[in-house]
Amino acid sequence: MKPRTIAIDGPSGSGKSTVGELLAKRLGYLYFDTGVMYRAVTCAALQRGLNVASEGQISQLAERLQIDVLPPTVADGRQNTVLADSVDITDKLRSAEIDANVSTVASYARVRAAMVRQQRAIGERGRVVMIGRDIGTVVLPHSELKVYLTASVEERARRRQRENAQRGDGSSYADVLRMMRRRDELDMGRENSPLRPAPEAHLVDSERLRAAEIVDSIEQLWK
Ligand code: C5P
Repeated sequence: MKPRTIAIDGPSGSGKSTVGELLAKRLGYLYFDTGVMYRAVTCAALQRGLNVASEGQISQLAERLQIDVLPPTVADGRQNTVLADSVDITDKLRSAEIDANVSTVASYARVRAAMVRQQRAIGERGRVVMIGRDIGTVVLPHSELKVYLTASVEERARRRQRENAQRGDGSSYADVLRMMRRRDELDMGRENSPLRPAPEAHLVDSERLRAAEIVDSIEQLWK
């Protein structure tokens, strides 16, 4: 029996989305990036002028907001199309403002509960590569194949800055590095579902590996 689900976790810039998308294509599985759901809640909160520090307001929003993550509906290089209450917000999700606020939003227990419920429903259908921070530990604890990707924070910041530049975002390496360190701290240090490898996860250091090499090794594990 081949694993029905593949859980890939790790910090920002560790290569999860590149590896996850390539792997899903190769196996004919659905690629599902859970980070966009937390980004969608953050985007909706900012658009509505809510205070991100207000756990009650943000939790209520997360419980009511209809988030749909679809295959790309526009061929502009996006990995998916994200709707919030039927409005396409995909091109707003990678802004510096969302980067700066998303980990606070994702630290709230009720926000996480609302997102995890939907993520599990997708996992139950099987044939999915799911990427995030708590997939192997919380969302799909029974997943048959778990991978935890890592790389130094400096390398991750370099990658993220290159990606940002390609999108026309000119933030400096120093700014990206600072933001990444802060997000790592919040994601690893939070009380609810902190970022950490599941005990049975395969640890992969992506620092000097190409995405295709990582995909090859995960495919071997899958086989
Ligand atoms: O993966 P990405 O950088 O898009 O995720 C944005 C943020 O969403 C993360 O920094 C983290 O705070 C949160 N997140 C999470 N759990 C997940 C996926 C993302 O807490 N499964």
